[in-house]
Amino acid sequence: MAYDSENIFAKILRGEIPNQTVYEDDGILAFHDIAPKTPVHVLVIPKGAYVDMDDFTANAPAEVISDFFRKSGQIARDLGVVEGGYRIVTNNGENAGQIVPHFHIHIMGGQRIEEGSM
Ligand code: C5P
Repeated sequence: MAYDSENIFAKILRGEIPNQTVYEDDGILAFHDIAPKTPVHVLVIPKGAYVDMDDFTANAPAEVISDFFRKSGQIARDLGVVEGGYRIVTNNGENAGQIVPHFHIHIMGGQRIEEGSM
């Protein structure tokens, strides 16, 4: 799928739509999900134009990929969810119900998810 620069996260990155920023640098933006499904629900997106996990891991430079996941781990630490435990989710494509076609991961924590719920 070709990247659509009118997707909602592209608009957030251009400052056309507001967001509740948790962390930002040259490469990534982390912000609170607008409709949180857990007490802590933060999205992390790369600033580069990647549609989904498949596009990101196939086409982003190795340093960009490692930087993204290393910083996501630090964001989870800063959010205080590591001790209690947290979930990382990324929806890839239609069968996963991906809504926004700009690669993102969900950091979800702050409540217990029952074992075997995946
Ligand atoms: O399924 P997918 O991971 O693509 O879901 C997109 C997520 O982006 C949803 O959890 C939705 O609440 C969130 N979202 C947001 N801010 C927006 C639009 C969507 O946090 N302006």
